[in-house]
Amino acid sequence: MKEKHIAKKGEIVKVSGPLVVAKEMSGSKMYDVVRVGNPGLIGEIIEMKGELAAIQVYEDTAGIGPKEPVVPTYKPLSVELGPGLIEAIFDGIQRPLSVIAKETGAFIERGINVASLNREKKWDFNPLKKQGDKVEEGDVLGTVRETPLLIHKIMVPFGVSGTIANIEKGTFTIEQPIAVIKNDKGEKIEIKMYHTWPVRKPRPYKQKLAPNEVLSTGQRVIDTFFPIAKGGTACVPGPFGSGKTVIQHQLAKWADAEVIVYIGCGERGNEMTDVLIEFPELKDPRTGKPLMQRTTLIANTSNMPVAAREASVYTGITIGEYFRDMGYSVAVMADSTSRWAEAMREISGRMEEMPGEEGYPAYLSTRIAEFYERAGKVICLGSEKRKGTLSVIGAVSPPGGDLSDPVVQATLRVVKVFWSLEDKLAFKRHFPAISWLNSYSLYKESLEKSIAKAISHQYVEDSKFAMRLLQEEAELEEIVRLVGIDALSPNERLIMEGARSIREDFLHQNAFHEIDTFTSLEKQSIMLSIVLHYYKRAVEALKKGVELNKLIDMPIREKIARLKFIEEDKDLSSIHSVKKEIDAAFDSLEQEEK
Ligand code: ADP
Repeated sequence: MKEKHIAKKGEIVKVSGPLVVAKEMSGSKMYDVVRVGNPGLIGEIIEMKGELAAIQVYEDTAGIGPKEPVVPTYKPLSVELGPGLIEAIFDGIQRPLSVIAKETGAFIERGINVASLNREKKWDFNPLKKQGDKVEEGDVLGTVRETPLLIHKIMVPFGVSGTIANIEKGTFTIEQPIAVIKNDKGEKIEIKMYHTWPVRKPRPYKQKLAPNEVLSTGQRVIDTFFPIAKGGTACVPGPFGSGKTVIQHQLAKWADAEVIVYIGCGERGNEMTDVLIEFPELKDPRTGKPLMQRTTLIANTSNMPVAAREASVYTGITIGEYFRDMGYSVAVMADSTSRWAEAMREISGRMEEMPGEEGYPAYLSTRIAEFYERAGKVICLGSEKRKGTLSVIGAVSPPGGDLSDPVVQATLRVVKVFWSLEDKLAFKRHFPAISWLNSYSLYKESLEKSIAKAISHQYVEDSKFAMRLLQEEAELEEIVRLVGIDALSPNERLIMEGARSIREDFLHQNAFHEIDTFTSLEKQSIMLSIVLHYYKRAVEALKKGVELNKLIDMPIREKIARLKFIEEDKDLSSIHSVKKEIDAAFDSLEQEEK
């Protein structure tokens, strides 16, 4: 079968940047990988017209010209899935950057052939099944401790089932068989610790479930007001400098996910270099070990053409699905999907397709929707009915922060959470600059039950109460803007004060402060209840005749402002005691009044 194809090379007829057109390509299919030109650049067929193939090339095509050969592989663009994914830094087509750097210096030589996963490294395989066991696709045959933070489960590949004829404990490379499965037809299938999967094809699962557990992030504005579910989708659009990258890093560090896949599609080379330098230095806050021990990083390097961003998005989500299939909670972060969309626009333009809005191809929204639809909470393949979740968080960087941008709009049509970063807030140094008025989470209601159960019903109520106060503040601000603060009644002034405290004492969170950087849901609930307790007591005191200024100037408010800096593992009780101090302060104020 392989032999038959080998002689059938195509020939380049045209090169236009990353787009190459080749003739005599019959036999190849859409999305097949081909090697282009004399250096054998890696490309993917994105259109077939008769025997003409349009090829998106993932390496620089400079110097490539007509008449050079195009060699088909007859295989779709695929990733290798197995031990070695974690801690790796890959480029968009899963070439390991560290290995490449060693072999060719800092620059990636074009057309280089390197295996995605290390072929020499040996892993300790611990079987969980034994000879004679019946297994089906997705069943876990055994495990490998890939890093101190991650156990890699070796699963029966898709399409394979039968009885285990042999399985071995021991130390193996990923090329050595660890088990043999005899299928119904009596055929013996050797199982290795890795397999390949076409990136554009979502990995199968048994059943999709409604996401109903919160993916806590430790970021107060997110968890309390706009939570994302495990298996959910979120979009963070925002102008340059509004904090998209900081948010993504915070989520990578603090989100309650076991595996992180970070896809960096930076525009300029140095943005990517930042990620490559910063990420390996991040610490997993729960264990103090390097975060990379549960992370796969995909980075488009500056010397790869924009087209590679397209591949990186699919490579990343496929790796995410693979860990989901093991039953893990996985978070995939893509920063920024605008760069991916721009790559689509460039290729589409060169193919002279009919442009849609802002020159983006008409299929932009379909592609974006297909990407986010790969998120979800699922029952994985296999007889154990494991549940796995894949959450997807995409940053979008529209020009000038304009939310009517087609990429933002297409994304908002599919994702369920919208964290709206605003430069106005960033300018005022209110971080995270997530607007509490424009953001939303369509999971909020469905998560209430589990949040109430895990934390308290009061927390759910407090969150609603606080949001109403913030909305009232926005309306009052309008009045103040028109006729001045004196137009407000004392009650309205208190609403402004209460809302200010929610904003400054609760929502404002410094990502770079050792303690403030993360707040557990429990601490969030206590902090919010204290902030609201002050407001509610102040409303009461006002009714009892206490002067507004005295309420605004209460020294206890200083303590409320410092709640965020109280270390939680040691001292949650000291946070609780602030409530008592508030009561005492109000009691004495009211006493004076009598
Ligand atoms: P973007 O990726 O949108 O261009 P960044 O994420 O690089 O923006 O953020 C720009 C700057 O804003 C950061 O360097 C930092 O100083 C500040 N910043 C953003 N978010 C926070 C935060 N949560 N806490 C403190 N500072 C922040």
